[in-house]
Amino acid sequence: MKASIGKIGKWLLLGLGAAVALVGLYLSVFFFPYPLFPHHAEFAGFSVYSDREIPEDLELVLDDARRRVEAMELYRADNNLRIFLCYSQRKFVTLNKLAGKRHAGQALVISAAGNAFFSEEGIEGMRRRTGGRPVHSRLEGSWSAAIAHEVAHLQMVATKGSRKARTMPTWKSEGYADYAANLAAARSDPNYDFRSRIELLLDEKNWRSPVRSFDRRHYRWHLLVEYLCNVRELRFEDLLNAGVTEESTWDEMIAWYSSLDS
Ligand SMILES: [Zn+2]
Repeated sequence: MKASIGKIGKWLLLGLGAAVALVGLYLSVFFFPYPLFPHHAEFAGFSVYSDREIPEDLELVLDDARRRVEAMELYRADNNLRIFLCYSQRKFVTLNKLAGKRHAGQALVISAAGNAFFSEEGIEGMRRRTGGRPVHSRLEGSWSAAIAHEVAHLQMVATKGSRKARTMPTWKSEGYADYAANLAAARSDPNYDFRSRIELLLDEKNWRSPVRSFDRRHYRWHLLVEYLCNVRELRFEDLLNAGVTEESTWDEMIAWYSSLDS
């Protein structure tokens, strides 16, 4: 009896050891992914790791990302991301699956680790699908906007704490991240006109395949937050107010837009 208990104990210990090793391996993929991304560079205050040689124009991309990030309301110099460039889509999809995400988009951020993974296929594929339109939106398929978008999420977590940031309605968190990521670019574009952005959203012919209803929904969230922040001049804190709903903001924005027409 004693011997068999000893044996069971040994197996239990072995099992426990294996489980701990597996959890460690699992976490290391997100917290210490460096071996999977052997190319490294530092640009514009970002640490970049890549699974392929780092492209020469990345410095320009990161200068632009830095400009976008510093224009954000919630900007704090200590909120930074380590950037992991996935040229291998298979690697990016696997990381998403391990993180429990069913769909792999342009990026995957692990806030607790300060690491964000970006997919070449996700970003460039978006640009191919939409033709890069509308500009200054996630549909543009812009590397610098995608990076700034993830930094904006990180800033929301740093400002409100991860639980509160996680429980924000999707239209607010995604809309705010897209709005904040594109603010500097929109401000410096002399042709930027918010009214024609709404027009573009309302016109059905802009939303035919291969553009997806998913894309249109995100663009709508972006404009709703832009309306609240730029036209109504709400701060991020005001935006979190439960009384600010998607439906009421939509009605208000359309009423405002129609009043411009008359
Ligand atoms: Zn997002």
